[in-house]
This record gives sequence, C-alpha cells and structure tokens, in this order.
Amino acid sequence: MNESSPHYRIVCIGSGPAAWTSALYTARASLQPVVIEGEPTREMIPGGQLMWTTEIENFPGFPEPIGGQELMDRMREQAVHHGAKVINEAVEEVDFSLRPFRLRLSWSGWIEADAVIIATGARANWIGLPSEERLARTGGGVSACAVCDGALPFFRDKVLAVVGGGDSAMEEATYLTKFASEVVLIHRRDSFRASRVMVDRALSNPGLRVEWNSRVVDVLGDDFINGLVLEDTVTGEHRTMEVGGLFVAIGHTPNTSFLGDQLQLSPKGYIMTPTPWRTVTSVDGVFAAGDVMDDYFRQAITAAGTGCMAALEAERWLAHEGAAGARPPVLETAESSVGKPE
Ligand SMILES: Cc1cc2nc3c(=O)[nH]c(=O)nc-3n(C[C@H](O)[C@H](O)[C@H](O)COP(=O)(O)OP(=O)(O)OC[C@H]3O[C@@H](n4cnc5c(N)ncnc54)[C@H](O)[C@@H]3O)c2cc1C
Repeated sequence: MNESSPHYRIVCIGSGPAAWTSALYTARASLQPVVIEGEPTREMIPGGQLMWTTEIENFPGFPEPIGGQELMDRMREQAVHHGAKVINEAVEEVDFSLRPFRLRLSWSGWIEADAVIIATGARANWIGLPSEERLARTGGGVSACAVCDGALPFFRDKVLAVVGGGDSAMEEATYLTKFASEVVLIHRRDSFRASRVMVDRALSNPGLRVEWNSRVVDVLGDDFINGLVLEDTVTGEHRTMEVGGLFVAIGHTPNTSFLGDQLQLSPKGYIMTPTPWRTVTSVDGVFAAGDVMDDYFRQAITAAGTGCMAALEAERWLAHEGAAGARPPVLETAESSVGKPE
C-alpha cells in the first residue's frame, strides 16, 4: 500500500446478478461504483453462473426464455450505462481491519474503498468429467440446478438421473418427479447422508428409484445426453444406463477464499450476515449479496434482490458513516425494501 492507491467510494466485487444490481443502484445514487468483475478461470467466468445456462424461463420480465449470457450482458450494460466502472480483474486479498478498506487486485495491486459489497457467488460442484462439462456448457441436458432447469420442455417425460446423497439431492430428485417419466438417484454409497425426513419423502415417491453404490464415470451423447456409464463402487463393474437428463446435486462452494479470516463465515464458507433482513457482514461497511451469502434460495432473482438490498444499505451506511462503527439506521418507511418485515 502507498498513498497513490486508487480510492473509491464503493467497490462491488463479482459479476453475477447480485453484483450488477448493486452496481446499478449505487451508480444511480451517484456513488460512482467500481465493479471488480473477476477473471475467467476453469471454474468461473465473469458474468457468473448464468453464463453456464442456455435458457432462463424464471427471471421476471422475459415472457420468452432468455439466454444466460444475454441476460448477464444486459445487466452489465445497464449498470455501465448508469455510470458503473468495470475492472476486469479478480480480488485476491482484502484488509478490512482499517478504513478505508483495502483490496488487492490480481494485476493492478491495492485499491481502497469506503464501502464494499461482496457478490462473488458460489460455484456448483461438478463430477469433473469432460463429457459432463461439454454437455452442461452447450445445453445438452446436463445441469446443476433442478429448480432452474427441471421444468424446461427438454427434460419432460424422460428418465432423469440425479447424482448426490444430501438434502439438496433428495429435494431436487423429488422435485423432478413432477416432470420426468422416472427419476433415478445415483449414490456412491449404500445409505444417504441426507436428513431422515428428506430421505423418507424421496424414497416414498413412486416416481423415484435409487442406484446404490454407483458413480457416474462417463456421460454419453454428442449434442444431447442419451445415457450414463455407471461404475459399481463395490465390484468396479461398469454398466450403461439410458437417461434423458443429468442433474448434479453434490453441493456448492462459495467463492470466499480471498477473504481469509477477515469476515465471519458459516461452517460451509458462506458469508454470515448477522442481522435478519440485512446484508451487513461482521464488519461495518462491508456488505454481502447473492449466492455468496445465501446457501438456501440460490436463484438469479434472489441474488439480484439482495444486490439491491446491499446497495441501499451501503448507501445509507455511507451517509451515516461519520460516527465510526455506526450500524446502518433502522428503516421504517413503507417504501423501504430493506426494513424489517412486519
Ligand atoms: C447450470 C445453472 C443453471 C442455472 N439456471 C438458473 C435459472 O434458470 N434461473 C435462476 O434464477 N437461477 C439459475 N441458476 C442459479 C443462478 O445462476 C445463481 O443463483 C446466480 O447466478 C447467483 O448470482 P450471484 O450474483 O450471487 O453470483 P454468481 O452468478 O455466482 O457470479 C459471481 C461471479 O463473481 C465473480 N467472482 C468470484 N470471485 C471473485 C473475486 N475474488 N474477484 C472478482 N470477481 C469474483 C466470478 O466471475 C463469478 O462468476 C443456475 C445456476 C446454474 C449453475
């Protein structure tokens, strides 16, 4: 750090729906936000998780499906149009122990910020097969989000496989029985680690069966999935199973490693926001939005919603920042979107 480090009023980290919404709101509030949008890696691309999906049917305002990349391009464009500045780098380290806060970028070094909104999302865990990655990227019938993609016409009345053994896998498999001719849960052990109630609900569903002691070692199909190669985890034998879709439900990893121990994180690594209906983190002046602080809803619209909340909260915090360590004021007006629910 030196005196010439660029100083910004507010920095938004990330480039998914949460980051662009927070940038849009803070730009319209004349805070001249800077968005650190990240760099492409094997697991993440600027634009966020929606860059991985071909059709989005559940983002309000688009009666026809919109492509994930197009939606993210539009969100970015809207924020930039209102004055957000974008830096194509990743944040590699932060120091929230002093104000102004300090952030180290991958190429240009340290910058300073009076307030920070973290919207770095989470990444879905994948099995790690090249065939899985190819078909997930091209809309070939492999997905990591049943709630997002399960209702698409592509998956209707087909045999759908779900990989996983936790609560999410049970929930996703049960959800998919509404659309599939049959759902097959593939699990590498002979018992699930999901909660009893979730397991009972899944196993009592007549549209669902389990392939125990099995793991997916290949996904078959050129443009579209048509089958899986399963390995028996006890005998090592391989067998082929015909399926019309694969949903990978083996958890998510929040993108919080760059935070070190600067913020309070949950045991799973998500940013904690201790006050209900607020986005402020364990450090005043640092806010979190989107999937990086939400391991429950994980939708584009909820990410955008919390991005808006973080922006409004940050704006009000900056306005009251004079008193060191001040918490954002409690909002009581009916028009407020961050006030306590009734
Ligand atoms: C296959 C798939 C399909 C989906 N389909 C739908 C759907 O149809 N409808 C729906 O509502 N939801 C869908 N979702 C869920 C939705 O994508 C997420 O809920 C949403 O994208 C979360 O937004 P976010 O802004 O929190 O972060 P993300 O979209 O996760 O974006 C965060 C981005 O921040 C950047 N970043 C990360 N670390 C850093 C760093 N250190 N420095 C700078 N930048 C960083 C990266 O570029 C990262 O991609 C889908 C998810 C997946 C995986």
